[in-house]
Amino acid sequence: MKTEYLKITGDARTDEEVIERAAAVIRRGGLVAIPTETVYGLAGSALLEDSAKKIYAAKGRPSDNPLIVHIAYPEDAERIAYPDEIFTALAGRFMPGPLTVVLPKKDCIPDTVTAGGDTVAVRCPSNPVAHRLIEVSGHPIAAPSANRSGIPSPTRAEHVLADMDGRIDMILDGGPCEIGLESTVIRLDGNGSCTILRPGAVTAEMLGEVCRSVRIAPAVIEPSLANGIRPESPGMKYKHYAPKADLLLVDAPHDAFADYVRTHAEGKYGVLAWDEDAALFPEGALLSLGPRGDAREASRRLFSLLRQADERAFTTVYAELPPAEGETLAYYNRIIRAAGCRIIRP
Ligand code: AMP
Ligand code: MG
Repeated sequence: MKTEYLKITGDARTDEEVIERAAAVIRRGGLVAIPTETVYGLAGSALLEDSAKKIYAAKGRPSDNPLIVHIAYPEDAERIAYPDEIFTALAGRFMPGPLTVVLPKKDCIPDTVTAGGDTVAVRCPSNPVAHRLIEVSGHPIAAPSANRSGIPSPTRAEHVLADMDGRIDMILDGGPCEIGLESTVIRLDGNGSCTILRPGAVTAEMLGEVCRSVRIAPAVIEPSLANGIRPESPGMKYKHYAPKADLLLVDAPHDAFADYVRTHAEGKYGVLAWDEDAALFPEGALLSLGPRGDAREASRRLFSLLRQADERAFTTVYAELPPAEGETLAYYNRIIRAAGCRIIRP
């Protein structure tokens, strides 16, 4: 299959033409990679079983890991699911944006999309290209991250091209993603309570402004728990986001981290380092996270840096273990999975 690569330029008229062409691909059951505010998504109609099958095949995604369905407006949730009052309250505060809510599904959503389950995960993206494509296509859109299953999610169109060229119909290049990590996924537990199944830019603290109580699923912090009988979100159990290089997390204050790397690293290695610490490592090893403690910037860069580590042929990459809290929880959740949960405590 030939993959068309089209750029979003910012010119309203030509961009609308590009989106109309992409919408036609969606309506006829094809796949289009699209920019969203989180990561690039691999979009297909959520109403067509065949599109969902193509998504699993193009990604090499296990068929028991359901897809998130994207809608243009929170009100459209009624078309595909049974939203309740707390959904409406959450939508008023966080939608459009990086929040996905698991709801009981309606019959129009094929079982393939939800991996046979009776719930559907619903999100309303804020990226204008994603929003407009959903609106123009007239279909709710199933869109997992547009990477081959298991490796770091794509945060630039070039990442998608590297993974998906020849496997999908079209790629829309809308520039780098603003957030860089996937959406927060929550389950509603009744009585205004919710459980975070996957952390993202909408934090537990933020959800607490709307929900009476916010629980964090244990597997978010301790992935080995996801190997139990039935993880609450199927995606929890898979090895994820991993570069080819061995990623090693060091649980130590940053001076001790630098000492550990200096005394142990050999071969062609890289270091995920804050700008302030750059001088502590050889220049050829640096993978810059940005200014120290800027969780948003580090999150924006993480997946791109893990891909860069492979492009630069590092065999090992060292990183500090971040705290599992607040704005850093999403970064923590991704990096421990990318490291296969190997943590060094010097
Ligand atoms: P991705 O498509 O790569 O962004 O991953 C989507 C995430 O949402 C995965 O972790 C899925 O397991 C999770 N997910 C999707 N649908 C559901 C659902 N109905 N219930 C629970 N988790 C879901
Ligand atoms: Mg993914």
